Amino acid sequence: MSEVLVLVDHIDGEVKKVTFELLTAARRIGEPSAVVVGTPGTAAKVRDALARYGAAKVYAAESEDAVTYLTTPKVDALATLAGSASPAAVLISATVEGKEVAGRLAARLNSGLLVDVVDIDADGVGTQSIFGGAFVVKAKVGNGLPVITVRPGGVEAEEADGAAAEAAVELPAVDAAKSARITGREQIVGGDRPELTEASVVVSGGRGVGSAESFAVVEKLADTLGGAVGASRAAVDSGYYPHQFQVGQTGKTVSPQLYIALGISGAIQHRAGMQTSKTIIAVNKDAEAPIFEIADFGVVGDLFQVAPQLTEAVAKR
Ligand code: FAD
Repeated sequence: MSEVLVLVDHIDGEVKKVTFELLTAARRIGEPSAVVVGTPGTAAKVRDALARYGAAKVYAAESEDAVTYLTTPKVDALATLAGSASPAAVLISATVEGKEVAGRLAARLNSGLLVDVVDIDADGVGTQSIFGGAFVVKAKVGNGLPVITVRPGGVEAEEADGAAAEAAVELPAVDAAKSARITGREQIVGGDRPELTEASVVVSGGRGVGSAESFAVVEKLADTLGGAVGASRAAVDSGYYPHQFQVGQTGKTVSPQLYIALGISGAIQHRAGMQTSKTIIAVNKDAEAPIFEIADFGVVGDLFQVAPQLTEAVAKR
């Protein structure tokens, strides 16, 4: 069975959920090999978790430099393996960094690139949801090694036994003059909440929330459900919530199990970022709001009455 390389998304050895989704998707095409790029010892730390989701092999591309530079070590590791392991495909999470790694890798290998797929089949045909989910496109890479980015939440992670046999990958020294060095990392807001693109529940607020202070209503419901907080662009542009939480065409793309839209009209640019959520609940006082066209459950009402009741009901469980 052909090998399928999966770039492990992790922060200091804490594996992100999307990696397990990628391993699940990779099993449809061939035998998944997880590629861990990190400081020495990272692969050993994450090996068991990767084995639980069917990683047959774990490539350790480790060096002190691996987390000091943006993208370059990851591209180097995958390009090295593309040459030595003859994989059938490379799967990378469709995050901001993942997309950059994928683009650079495809350019370096002169390969076709398939971005932001929400599903993938055994023949390597990816499904993309475009124009705010109005159309579904099926596409396959026709040239070279397929490099595919998969949207977090697109494929459901399923456990499977994997041997996770460890193999080392030699990383070339980073050319500092040609690479961007990370000078610091800082968590701005969000506290203990899950990351927006990783969360299984996202509660988003729109212009209807009316002010930054009132976003506490959105946060309370999100916290009661153990979810992340999102916002529409109108809410962000109005200064109600920081930009990094914007969902939509020019914000983040999310695909949680549950998406709750509070005071969001459902413009096509917003839908583009949340349309593939498994279950969508909308609360809006306008019965004609377009968000109801895609909602699985809708409440026509004032979010300041509905959301606190919902929060209270969930808290009682
Ligand atoms: P509105 O459209 O103003 O809707 C507010 C809703 O709240 C209304 O439906 C109203 O009935 C309801 N409401 C008001 N008060 C209450 C209440 N008390 N209780 C219940 N409901 C209430 N938008 C994004 O979200 N993300 C993007 O990434 C994005 N990218 C864009 C890119 C481009 C190039 C362009 C042109 C636009 C983009 N937009 C994006 C903007 C988008 O077109 C909409 O303007 C935006 O999504 C509207 O946000 P909203 O639904 O919060 O506000």
